Amino acid sequence: MTFRNGPDTDRDTQLDVVVIGAGFSGLYALQRLRSEGFRVRVLEQGDGVGGTWYWNRYPGARCDSESYYYSYSFDEELQHEWEWTERYPEHFEIRAYLEHVAERFDLHRDIDLGTRVESATFDDATSTWAVRTADRTLTCRFLVTAVGCLSTANVPDIPGLDTFAGEWFHTGRWPHEGVDLAGKRVGIVGTGSTGIQAVPVVAKEAAHLTVFQRTANYSIPARNGPVSAAERAEVKARYDEIRRIQRESTNGHPFLISEVSALAVDEAERTATYEKAWERGSLKFRASFADLLTSREANDTASDFIRDKIRAVVRDPATAEKLTPRDHGFATKRPPIDTDYFEAYNRTNVSLVDVRADPIREITPAGIRTGEEHPLDVIIFATGFDAMTGPLLGFDIRGAGGVPLRTKWAAGPVTHLGLQVAGFPNLFTITGPGSPSVLCNMPTAIEQHVEWIADCLVHLREKGVSRMETTEEAERAWVAHVNEVAHQTLLPQASTSWYLGANVPGKPRVFMPYAGGMATYAKTCAEVAEKGYEGFVLSA
Ligand code: NAP
Repeated sequence: MTFRNGPDTDRDTQLDVVVIGAGFSGLYALQRLRSEGFRVRVLEQGDGVGGTWYWNRYPGARCDSESYYYSYSFDEELQHEWEWTERYPEHFEIRAYLEHVAERFDLHRDIDLGTRVESATFDDATSTWAVRTADRTLTCRFLVTAVGCLSTANVPDIPGLDTFAGEWFHTGRWPHEGVDLAGKRVGIVGTGSTGIQAVPVVAKEAAHLTVFQRTANYSIPARNGPVSAAERAEVKARYDEIRRIQRESTNGHPFLISEVSALAVDEAERTATYEKAWERGSLKFRASFADLLTSREANDTASDFIRDKIRAVVRDPATAEKLTPRDHGFATKRPPIDTDYFEAYNRTNVSLVDVRADPIREITPAGIRTGEEHPLDVIIFATGFDAMTGPLLGFDIRGAGGVPLRTKWAAGPVTHLGLQVAGFPNLFTITGPGSPSVLCNMPTAIEQHVEWIADCLVHLREKGVSRMETTEEAERAWVAHVNEVAHQTLLPQASTSWYLGANVPGKPRVFMPYAGGMATYAKTCAEVAEKGYEGFVLSA
C-alpha cells in the first residue's frame, strides 16, 4: 500500500528519521528504528521495494553470493521460515524475499513508493533536515541514506546513441515486462559481473550476440543448482554458526580466508587447491590462499590458473586470447562468477569484439561502429554504475551552512567510518564510501550499519542529544586510514576498477570502500560507540 500525504501533515513534519531507499538497507532500517520507537518514513523512488533488485531484471540477473547467507540474519523466525530454491537466487526470488520481509514486518505502512527525493537540506537553527520530493517536504531530525552502492546506471556517452534505430537498454534499468530478444541481433557492451551473467543467457535466445569487451575479465564457475531439502535442513541447523562466521570474516561470507600463502606450498599442492575451489565454484575461490590480494607473485598463481582454464574452455585460440585478462590480477577488480560464460564463445552465434584494440567510434542507426559496423537490433549496456558516490550525489544534499555534498566531495568522497560526513550533521550513510560495503556480502555490511545507527540514535535519545556530527579531524584520519589499508593490498592497482571510480569519465580516482575487512571494521565501530562516539560531536 502506498501513502501519499498532503503537505504539512504531522506525519511529514514530526518525524524522527527519514530513510531514503527501500532495498535491503532501507527495509531493515525501518524495521529496526521503528522497533526502537522512532517515527520513521521511508521514501523510495521505485514502485516496489527491493532497491537494486527492483531495477536489475536483465537476463541472467542473479546474486553472486549464495542465497542462504545473502539474506537477513536479524530475525530467527524469518531465516527459518524462508525457503531458497537455488544456490544463487535469481532476481525475482530476491525480490519475493524482500517483499515477504516488508509484509511480514508490516513495513509498507511507513514506506512511500514512487517517491523520488529531490533534495535534502540541513537547517542549522533547528538541527533538522528538510527532505523535498516532487510534491512535499518532510522534516526530520535524522536522515539515513539507504540508496545502495550500485544503483546509478552508467550509460556511456557514445556519439550517435540517439540515432540508433533499434532498442537499447541498461541492465540496471531493465524493463519490467522483459525484452523479447528471440531472433534478434543483440550487442552487449561490457564484461563485468553483469555482462558475464547476461552473455550465456542472451546467447541462447538471440539470433546473434556480439559482445563488446573493453577489459577481459576473470570469472569462476558459479556451479548453480537447486537447493535440496537436505542442504536446506543442514543450513538451518547451522544458521547460528554460519552467521557468526559471516560477522567474523573479512568479506561477510561464511568462510574465512586461508592462512596459508600461495607461495608456501609447491606447485602441485597449489594447483590441487585451485582445482578444488574451481570445482566447488563461487566467490570462495579468492579465499584459497592468504595473500592473493597482497602479493603480486601469489596473485599471479591464481591469475595464471584461470588464464589456463579460459584457454582450455574456449576453442578458438584467437578468441581465447582476447578473453584472457592480462592488465590486472584476479580479484583486484570485483571478481565475477558465471554459468557457462566462456563456453558461450564456442557457440556459432556469438562473436567477440575487443574494443580496446578496436574502439567503439559511434553508434549508427544500424548498430555499433568500431573499425567496421556491427549491425544490431538491440544494444544492452552492461556498463556498470557510478558506484558508491553516484546514488548520494544524484540528489541535492546540503549540510550546515548550505554546503552541497557535491562540493564537499568534488575531489572524491570523504567520510568518517563511511557513516557520517563532517559538515552534514544528523546524516547517516548506510554502506557509504569508506565502509566495507561492496567488498563485503552486502546484507552483512548493511545489518552492521543499521544496528550501529539504531543503537546510536537510541543513545542520543537517552542523552537528550539532538545533533551529532563527525569532526573534520576524525574524517581526515579515517580517509587516511582507508587509503593506507587499500594500499596494503593490490586493489588500487587495477586501473580500470569501479572501486576507484575509473569506469566513469571525469570521476575522481579515489579507492572508495574500506579494505580492512568486515570484522576489523565492525570492531572499530563498536569501540567508537563504547568511547561515547569518539570522533563525533554530540550536542543538545
Ligand atoms: P562493471 O563491473 O563496472 O562492468 C562494466 C563493464 O562495462 C566493464 O567491462 C567495462 O569495461 C565496460 N564498459 C564501461 N563503459 C564502457 C564503454 N564506454 N565502452 C566499452 N565498455 C565499457 O559493472 P557490472 O558488470 O554491472 O557490475 C558492477 C558490480 O555490480 C559488480 O562488480 C558487482 O559488485 C555488482 N553485481 C553483482 C551481481 C550479483 O551479485 N548478482 C551481479 C552483477 C553485478 P572496463 O572494465 O574497461 O571499465
